Amino acid sequence: GCGICTKRCPFGSIKIIGLPEELSDDKIIHSYGQNRFRLYGLISPRNGVTGILGPNGVGKSTIIKILNGELLPNLNDLENPSNIENVIKHFSGTELQNYFEKLKEKSIKPIHKPQYVDVLPKVVKGKVGDMLKKVDETGKFDELTKELELTNLLNREFTQLSGGELQRVAIAAACLRDGSIYYFDEPTSWLDVKQRFSAAKVIRKVSEDKKVVAVEHDLIVLDYLSDNIHIMYGVPSAYGVVTHPRGTRVGINAYLDGFLKEENIRFRKNSIIFEKRPPADNSNRPMLLDYTDINVNLGDFKLNVEGGEIYQGEVVGILGPNGIGKTTFVKALAGVIKPNAGEINGDIKVAYKPQYILTDFDGTVEDLLMDITAIHTSFYKSEIVKPLALENLMESNVKDLSGGELQRVSIAACLSHDADLYLIDEPSAFLDVEQRLNASRVIRRMADEKDAAMFVVDHDILFQDYISDRFIVFNGEAGMNGQGSAPLKKRDGANKFLKQMGITFRRDPETGRPRVNKEGSQRDLHQKEIGEYYYVD
Ligand code: ADP
Ligand code: ADP
Ligand code: MG
Ligand code: MG
Repeated sequence: GCGICTKRCPFGSIKIIGLPEELSDDKIIHSYGQNRFRLYGLISPRNGVTGILGPNGVGKSTIIKILNGELLPNLNDLENPSNIENVIKHFSGTELQNYFEKLKEKSIKPIHKPQYVDVLPKVVKGKVGDMLKKVDETGKFDELTKELELTNLLNREFTQLSGGELQRVAIAAACLRDGSIYYFDEPTSWLDVKQRFSAAKVIRKVSEDKKVVAVEHDLIVLDYLSDNIHIMYGVPSAYGVVTHPRGTRVGINAYLDGFLKEENIRFRKNSIIFEKRPPADNSNRPMLLDYTDINVNLGDFKLNVEGGEIYQGEVVGILGPNGIGKTTFVKALAGVIKPNAGEINGDIKVAYKPQYILTDFDGTVEDLLMDITAIHTSFYKSEIVKPLALENLMESNVKDLSGGELQRVSIAACLSHDADLYLIDEPSAFLDVEQRLNASRVIRRMADEKDAAMFVVDHDILFQDYISDRFIVFNGEAGMNGQGSAPLKKRDGANKFLKQMGITFRRDPETGRPRVNKEGSQRDLHQKEIGEYYYVD
């Protein structure tokens, strides 16, 4: 291990050896106790949006709670009660001195959108509209409820809201209040792509005259949202280190590379590289299956998906808003539901990772995976166990896993099956940025190595762009009807989808990763005019 924690290192073969020299005890801003998590450094919010990028468990939410005044840092003094005067003294001569002085005098008013919105119904009672009206100090009720698509939810009780609905209500509530600085902790969880960008736009608008800090795992959204970012690294639940602010583009590139030059820290063995060109047409691969137009009626909801042919070894990304039948389509392919019309031809074995994972398995992670395949081979270790960081979970009971742990185990379980077609519904949900990048590599490599095909539903478009050979694009009216396209060539599919979203992409010259063009910029207007939403060569 790295000498800090007793557990095996979650970074696999890459170890952060000891602590970087510059991290001495006097740099500890907060410690949760003897041999507990320690936070090294703090951020000083700048004008615009300051993004925080890093894996789970390295103190991102802790930073926000400190700056929001919810948690008074103890400066690693575990004997004496925390004291704001000491904190002010600790930061003397820096901007944070000023910040904590103002926090003490209550002359700044921080606003916090917390990470966990699913607890809201337990603490807020009544109707959504009444609550939002009550916190409306800026008079932006009409504007924000419209932009965040809350108009139809105003008469609902909090207990009747889904995760994505709660998230948008929480973002609206924060933006409606009149604060001096705003903290958004993971604002896009549960949201589809369109909702992610509406949320990002609303948050950017707040940042025009107020400082904003945001923690975000969707790299395309983080890139779009932030003016500068702090990368965090460390060992989850042992320690976390805040790095100096970087420009957003440079910072995200460094993160994808897995190496922080100034800090001399490599935190991932492989760098993530994007193909600058979409893959060539793959119809020269052997065909695996084909299906005719598929119709499914569920209550009032009607789904219609155009037929298509699927080839061996390809990854088909499924894109589209929430509530228009992506999961229903995948279930029809998996044979979980029977379509009202349509046929799937091909003698194939299917493996399926559902969107909502049930945990009725009685046993450990190791038991679960061993029931499916031989897990002690070096292939399995290097392709599945290591990149999905399952080593330390093997002895845990499946029933005790957290959301992110269960997701990684379920992805592993699905890929462990010997199948011809893998259906993977929303694999990036509950995963942090590092786990998303690792999961995307695992899925891409498995598709390349087995002669199987993969269907992947996901709202993280960096993830989708990285793994997919082709796209199926869905649209429709949530809860009413949905239409799915045939599998489209990558560029055509991305174009169709981005047009629906009203955003255009360009490629970062260094990494080839997609970036969202600023709305109304010359490039954005030009690409919209010529209909090339994906990117221009
Ligand atoms: P992040 O937001 O980056 O996922 P957090 O700031 O929530 O990380 O937590 C960092 C670490 O601190 C966690 O790994 C957890 O073990 C520990 N931690 C968080 N809150 C507490 C607490 N109230 N008491 C003890 N330990 C905590
Ligand atoms: P997506 O995956 O695109 O978010 P789903 O396929 O889960 O969408 O659901 C599409 C629509 O079908 C939703 O509006 C949902 O309310 C409805 N629906 C799903 N299952 C059922 C069911 N068993 N009975 C009635 N309606 C359903
Ligand atoms: Mg957090
Ligand atoms: Mg779904």
